[in-house]
Amino acid sequence: MAGILTINNLTKKFGPLTAVNNLSFTINKGNVYGILGPNGSGKSTTLGIVLNVVNKTSGSFSWFGGTISTHDALKKVGAIIERPNFYPYMTAYQNLKLVCKIKGIDFSKIEEKLDVVGLLDRKHGKFQTFSLGMKQRLAIASALLNDPEILILDEPTNGLDPQGIHQIREIIKQIAQNGTTILLASHLLDEVEKVCSHVVVLRKGVKLYSGRVDEMIASHGYFELKAEDNNAL
Ligand code: ADP
Ligand code: MG
Repeated sequence: MAGILTINNLTKKFGPLTAVNNLSFTINKGNVYGILGPNGSGKSTTLGIVLNVVNKTSGSFSWFGGTISTHDALKKVGAIIERPNFYPYMTAYQNLKLVCKIKGIDFSKIEEKLDVVGLLDRKHGKFQTFSLGMKQRLAIASALLNDPEILILDEPTNGLDPQGIHQIREIIKQIAQNGTTILLASHLLDEVEKVCSHVVVLRKGVKLYSGRVDEMIASHGYFELKAEDNNAL
């Protein structure tokens, strides 16, 4: 299997706090890879490091087997690490057109990507009229415009109602089935179980487990995780 992202002994310190502690795992092509842990466990910091927006303290990571620079690799990565932010008075279509212009992408992709996230019939709807779930779906369409090899999502269902959560999870699964590798950070065991094939479990920046989700469920430690999850992970 082709390596998409390899992380080796990665550590990030903020002053005295070790946010990510000697973390290693590998994402292969086709994986739907979860980073699971409670708030403050180092999920977003890990994503920030591999996206070159947070400086690591030590360790290393490499994209696509280290064959290309991180700068070039990140052109093949789609990421949503913040709340979706578009122009409120512009339509979904106009907002994506602007993204295409900025990134030098052909407009012909826009309708296809709106269709992937179930927003094609709302393409002329203004962003400000969209629900939070629709805004998140538009952000996903935007991140897919350049047909990335991997899509990175940080807590993609946070703040959504049950229907919005279900829709986003189904869309992520569909994108994965179409061949895009996924890296998804979540504090919800339930989300990882429903969506992910693989997972790295973090506590205070330390890895508790990495591997297949079905093997995690079959393992002893899963019951401890489940108990923690019931007490709000
Ligand atoms: P998660 O995404 O799992 O909730 P984060 O990666 O955001 O966790 O944070 C991990 C730890 O690092 C937390 O204790 C957080 O307060 C701390 N942290 C994150 N970013 C910074 C920063 N820029 N400065 C200081 N501490 C930070
Ligand atoms: Mg976070």
